[in-house]
Amino acid sequence: MDKQKKYFCVVAMVLILLSGYGKISDSAFRMRVTRMIAGEGMLRLVAAQYGQKAAEPVAETASDRSEKEEHPRVALTFDDGPHATYTPLLLDGLRKRGIHATFFLMGKNIRGNEEIVTQMQRDGHLIGNHTYDHVQLDKIPGDQACQQIIKTNNEIYEITGEYPMYLRPPYGAWPKDLELCVTMLPVFWDVDTLDWKSKNVRSVENIVKRQVKDGSIILMHDSFSTSVEAALEIADMLTEEGYDLVTADQLLVM
Ligand SMILES: [Zn+2]
Repeated sequence: MDKQKKYFCVVAMVLILLSGYGKISDSAFRMRVTRMIAGEGMLRLVAAQYGQKAAEPVAETASDRSEKEEHPRVALTFDDGPHATYTPLLLDGLRKRGIHATFFLMGKNIRGNEEIVTQMQRDGHLIGNHTYDHVQLDKIPGDQACQQIIKTNNEIYEITGEYPMYLRPPYGAWPKDLELCVTMLPVFWDVDTLDWKSKNVRSVENIVKRQVKDGSIILMHDSFSTSVEAALEIADMLTEEGYDLVTADQLLVM
């Protein structure tokens, strides 16, 4: 198969997948305007697909929201899992606290850890895509980038029965032309704990303390014992400070 045919094949596959997207036709979803998306192009694509004009992004201020609810909100997000040892520990800690987080899974880490993914879903966490092999999506040909995403979506679907709608691009690299083959929303972050680098609970906590604000999306990794420990302490700290810990999609909704 030549390259162009392959490409159309991928596009066709995605359209087939999308036709099964129960959630995407949900009117609430269609009205969502994201704050942390890569660009308007994708919004237009999503909207066009469902016969609706894309809404202009409107910045929601903290004071707008304070009329609706009192608590500032923050999302804990975990990349690179599932990890056979540390993810279950984290899930246990979050469950005890009644907290929902967001997990961006690597496709190649899913095999053998299916039960962990099931538990994530059962516990009400948001499950997203972090590519199959942790590739930098703007450094590989477009058809391979699409495959990285689609393969991971399929792995997740096989376990949860739902295709993920959100994607955390490794290294934050999100090439615009991917919008042609994948209708997913990239989720970035504003607080980078550098937990993978320091592997130090205090350092991770201090970064969060200094940088967290209403609407923050905190980046961590459920691949280290120090990250699990820090995440649970941060969860307690933020709860004590009056934050509501929510899944990342909640912070993208206007
Ligand atoms: Zn990663």
